[in-house]
Amino acid sequence: MEQEPVSRNFIEQIIDRDIADGDCEEVCTRFPPEPNGYLHIGHAKSILLNYGLAEEYHGKFNLRFDDTNPTKEKEEFVDSILADVAWLGADWEDRLYYASDYFEQMYEAAIKLIKKGKAYVCDLTADEIREYRGTLTEPGRESPYRDRSVEENLELFENMKNGVYADGEKVLRAKIDMASPNMNMRDPVIYRVAHMSHHRTGDTWCIYPMYDFAHPLEDAFEGVTHSICTLEFEDHRPLYDWVVREVEFVHPPKQIEFAKLYLTNVVTGKRYIKKLVEEGIVDGWDDPRLVTIAALKRRGFTPSSIRTFVDLCGVSKRDSSVEYPMLEYCIREDLKMSAPRVMAILDPIKLVLDNYPADQTEELPADNNPENPEMGTRQLPFSREVWIEREDFMIEPPKKYRRLYPGNEVRLMYAYFVTCTGYETDEDGNVTVVHATYDPESRGGDSPDGRKVRGTIHWVDCRNAVQASAHLYENIIDEEQGVYNEDGSLNLNPNSLTVIDSCYIEPSLRDAKAYDRFQFVRNGYFCVDAKDTTLDHLVFNRIVSLKSSYKLPAQT
Ligand code: ATP
Ligand code: MG
Repeated sequence: MEQEPVSRNFIEQIIDRDIADGDCEEVCTRFPPEPNGYLHIGHAKSILLNYGLAEEYHGKFNLRFDDTNPTKEKEEFVDSILADVAWLGADWEDRLYYASDYFEQMYEAAIKLIKKGKAYVCDLTADEIREYRGTLTEPGRESPYRDRSVEENLELFENMKNGVYADGEKVLRAKIDMASPNMNMRDPVIYRVAHMSHHRTGDTWCIYPMYDFAHPLEDAFEGVTHSICTLEFEDHRPLYDWVVREVEFVHPPKQIEFAKLYLTNVVTGKRYIKKLVEEGIVDGWDDPRLVTIAALKRRGFTPSSIRTFVDLCGVSKRDSSVEYPMLEYCIREDLKMSAPRVMAILDPIKLVLDNYPADQTEELPADNNPENPEMGTRQLPFSREVWIEREDFMIEPPKKYRRLYPGNEVRLMYAYFVTCTGYETDEDGNVTVVHATYDPESRGGDSPDGRKVRGTIHWVDCRNAVQASAHLYENIIDEEQGVYNEDGSLNLNPNSLTVIDSCYIEPSLRDAKAYDRFQFVRNGYFCVDAKDTTLDHLVFNRIVSLKSSYKLPAQT
């Protein structure tokens, strides 16, 4: 990962200068999502960057739906975006806007350009326009309609608006420069005819502004001072500047580009995510294997872990990819001190303590978080039979195996020292029960006589255990291995979801609620799934395992 210097990032430097020069009195930024899908981790970066700058400069942050394209937008997406931006903690206060609310003003801006001789109605077809545009090495040719009079253009544009023409029959183009080395400046289309209902304006309009014309106007109407977007718009900046200059705004906004956030080997593009959702490969836009904000929330990530992650990524002018383990590092750090540490057995096998009184149950105190004593303690019921992890017992252990095997003594966490005395198997030789004796003198897991055990394992009392499910995740598509197979199908990881339906968790979790987060000792951080959990059955999503080889790059 590339490290940004601790000094101010390049966007802050630009804003500092604008303030010093008197070009900017109050900073205003915005997040302008198109409501055509759910937001993902890349959008989180943009949201927190824009919101963070507004906060830092005591300015304003606007949320604006960029809904000028009537084809793909949906109310469901508007609702999810509002929820996700709020969840991340970016507060737009009373400044929630819709670009479609500006259609009238945009229309007037177009008229203004026509009157200035800076825009004209063109009858070329889309294919002809493309052909006339030229290439990177050849200049374009001027449209035969380029020199229409202002009066004629005004009349034709009004006809466009009044539904006189079919889709594609006429467009309004900015009159700039067909020989410009920047293709975006070769008389770009700024309005098109589209007889289509819009999710907010219905059938009021049958002409819609193009993005490159609409976006600078939206920013300018709202008094946005710094319009921060991603690098692919760098070549569009001259057009952005042209629009705000020719429409004659007194305080024109300034476009600044930064590099998109990509995660190594993880699909972030809306297009891929949409495909996974539409093909039913995942359980909706919030499937915990995705990196939409809704999915991260459902999986158990916290807003603050995402803020930390975005901060660590920094702001750059160069495209780069950040490793997913860095995101995992951030959630581990966030939960380390705050999540209760509890015992849950994911792959259970029964351990019977043959010398423990059969009808006895006692309560043993356990720390809620040994690293954070303020979280207090709880009582764990304990009796003759407990569940342990299958992998914590072996008949013939390899060297260095410190857990249970015949003859070996280990500590049951917070409980007793136990010594394995034997085991039972089924017909196929699978171990079904492990037997042991306990040392009553070692209550609490403390050595009575200074003798040491080398292993400590976790357990859950059989009599009081709560049965639950756990979902374990892996990457759904490894981008490095290719998103698509040769036949065009998605290259899916068949192990991306493991469902375990017979876990046993300690009884203190019986009343856990959606989004409650825990560390299951030795097994990872888990979160109660908000969608699959029912009144009588808890489902836990593994947010992240405990171990990581990830090291935060050294800070400079
Ligand atoms: P996608 O590329 O995933 O389809 P998009 O750019 O089409 O996303 P928009 O709704 O148009 O999605 O984006 C809203 C804002 O989020 C834009 O300002 C865009 O530049 C920013 N954005 C989108 N993807 C990223 C990313 N990966 N990193 C940072 N900012 C992003
Ligand atoms: Mg987009």
